[in-house]
Amino acid sequence: MATNHNTRQNLITSFLRARKQFLLKRVTRQNLITSFLRARKPGGTASRIAPTKHEISFFVGAIFIKIKLNIKMENEKLMRMRHSLAHLLGGAVKELYPDVLIATGPAIENGFYYDFDFSTPITDKDLGKIEQKMRELIKKVKSFDKAEISKKDAEKLFKGNPYKLELIEEYTKDGKVLTTYTSGDFTDLCAGPHVENMDEIKNGAFKLERIAGAYWKGDENNKMLTRIYGLAFETKDELDAYIKRIEEAKARDHKKIGKELGLFVFSDLVGPGLPLYTFKGAIVRREIINYSNELQKAIGYQEVHTPNINKAELFKVSGHYEKYKDSMIKALSNYTKEEYYLKPMNCPQHTQIYASESRSYRDLPIRIADFANLYRDEKPGELSGLTRLRCFCQDDAHAFCREDQIKEEFVNVLGVIKKALATYKMEYNIRLSLWDPEKPEKYLGGAEVWDKSQKILEDILIENKIEYVRAVGEAAIYGPKMDIVTKDSLGREWQISTIQLDLIMPERFKLTYTDKDGKIKTPMMIHRAIIGSPERFMGILIEHYSGNFPLWLAPVQIKIVPIRENHNEYAEKISKELEELGFRVDCDTNEGNMGGKVRDAKNNKIPYTIIIGDKDIEAKKISVESRDKGQLGQLDLKEFIEKIKKEKENRE
Ligand SMILES: [Zn+2]
Ligand SMILES: [Zn+2]
Repeated sequence: MATNHNTRQNLITSFLRARKQFLLKRVTRQNLITSFLRARKPGGTASRIAPTKHEISFFVGAIFIKIKLNIKMENEKLMRMRHSLAHLLGGAVKELYPDVLIATGPAIENGFYYDFDFSTPITDKDLGKIEQKMRELIKKVKSFDKAEISKKDAEKLFKGNPYKLELIEEYTKDGKVLTTYTSGDFTDLCAGPHVENMDEIKNGAFKLERIAGAYWKGDENNKMLTRIYGLAFETKDELDAYIKRIEEAKARDHKKIGKELGLFVFSDLVGPGLPLYTFKGAIVRREIINYSNELQKAIGYQEVHTPNINKAELFKVSGHYEKYKDSMIKALSNYTKEEYYLKPMNCPQHTQIYASESRSYRDLPIRIADFANLYRDEKPGELSGLTRLRCFCQDDAHAFCREDQIKEEFVNVLGVIKKALATYKMEYNIRLSLWDPEKPEKYLGGAEVWDKSQKILEDILIENKIEYVRAVGEAAIYGPKMDIVTKDSLGREWQISTIQLDLIMPERFKLTYTDKDGKIKTPMMIHRAIIGSPERFMGILIEHYSGNFPLWLAPVQIKIVPIRENHNEYAEKISKELEELGFRVDCDTNEGNMGGKVRDAKNNKIPYTIIIGDKDIEAKKISVESRDKGQLGQLDLKEFIEKIKKEKENRE
C-alpha cells in the first residue's frame, strides 16, 4: 500500500501555496480557517499561534491514512507579525473600499490572508494600491489595542456584516466575552495576540501575493469571497528566496510541462480526474512500472492481475467498508442487487489469492504485486493534474509471511526502495510511523498487537543501523509503517515509498498456514510500495526533472535530423539500426528546415539529436548533440550506440 501525500516538511518549506494543484493546500487552508475560527473565540488566548495540528485523510492504494501535520508555525513572533499584517490588510482595504464586508484574516505558512466581500470585484492589478496603503498604515499605526466588548456592542459595531454577526453569534454561544483589536482606524473582532511593537513589522518584509476565491468558512454552499494573500518573512532575503522558489516550482508545474510535452490529456466527456495518456505519456508510465516490476521481481514478487470491481462484502471483511465507504465508487449491476464497488486498493483481493490454496510454512513468503487500476471518489475540486486522480494504479504489493521472515522481507524491500530512489536521484530519510496509543479507536486491533508489530519494525531499524525518526500517530489503521520520505530536486519532500506490517487483515480474512509443528497459524502481511502510484510519481518526476527525462524514461530518446533531402536515406538507415536495438527514435524526414527540426527536439526535451549532413555520410559517422552535455561532435555510430546502451541499461 502506499500513501500519496506531501509531508509536513513540504508544508513548512512553503511550496504549499504555489503548488495549488495539491489537495493539501485546500485541506490545510480549510483547517487553518477552522482553527482560526476556533482560536478567535474570545478567551482562546494564545491558541492561534500554538503549533496547529492538522489532520488530513488520504486514501491511496491500500487504505486510508490519517496524517497529522504538526505545522509548527515557524515561531510565535513571526506568526504574530503575519497575523498583524492581516489586520493592516483589512484596514487598508476598508479605507480604499469603504463598503467592503470584512470576513476573517489569519496568519498562515509564509504569510497571511484576509477574506473580503467586495461590492465590485477587484483584480490582481489592485494589489499594488492596497499594498501601498498598508505601507502607509505601518507608518501611521502605533499599536494594536485590545478591548472587551459586549455582544450587543459588537453587533452594533459590525451591523450589516453577516460574516461578523455569524461569528459573534458563534463565539458568544457559551457565554464567553468578546474582544476586539484596534489598529489605527480599523477595529476587528479578534482574540489576539499581535505584535507588541510596530518595529516587529517594520523590520520584516512583506508583499501582497495574489487574489483567489474562497468560500466563507471553506464551505462550498456558502458565498464565494475574495481572498487576498500576502507573503511575510522576517527578512527581505527570506522573502526573495521564497518568491524565487515559487517561480521555479511554477515553471516546473507538471500540468504545464505535461501539456508542452504532450504526455497526457483530460476530456470533459471522460470526466475529471481521469487522465488519458498519449502514446508518449504511456511510455513514461510504462517505463516506471517496468522498473518497479524489475526491482520487485528480483526479490521474489510475482505480478498478478485482479478485477477493478468487487463485492462490498470484501471490504466489509477488510474493515474498509465501515470506515471509508464514502470514498469508494459504487458499481451497479443489472443482474444482481448485491452491492459492488470499484476497488480503491488491491490488498483485500490479494488475501483471496492467498486464501485460494492451503499453505504450508514452506510455501511462505507468498509475494504478490499488482498494477490494476484503482478508483477513489475524490471531490472534483480536489483533483489536480496527475497528483490527485480518481483513477490510478499502485506498485502496491503484498507479502504473506511467517513472523521469522519479516526481517528479511523488510530488509529486501528497503534495499530495492533505496536502489529505485538512487536511480531517480532522490534523497530520502526514513520515518517509523507508529500508532497513537491515546486514540486506539482510530486503529484496528488492540495494544498488544500494536506493541508487538512496532517492536518488530524498530528492532529491524536498530539492528541494521538505519537512521530513522519516530512519528507517533502516523501508522496505517492496520499497522505500523516505515515511510521513506524523499526529497526532489526542488527540495520538496514527498512520501512515496512505504513498507507496512499488518497483523490484522490476515486475521480478519482468516488466512492460515500449517506450521512445522503441524499447528494452524495466521501469516503476517506486509504491504509495500516502491514508488507508490506510477501516475502520481510521473507527475512528481516531471517536476523533479523539469521535463528533462533521463534517456530510459524519455518518450522519444533520439531525434535524427537530415540536413537536406538527399541525406534522408542515410538518416533512415541509422534510425532503423537504433530502433532495432530498442531505442525510441524520431527520424524527421518531413519537409521543413533543419533549424526548426532541431528546435523541435529541444522543445520536446529529447536527450539526443543526431544531425546528418554530407560530411557525416562521407566519414560514415554521425554528428550528435546531447540535451544535457551539448555538442558531442562527430561520432562513430557504434561508439554512440555503446554509450547510449550503457546509459539506458544503467538508467543513468
Ligand atoms: Zn496493501
Ligand atoms: Zn487579530
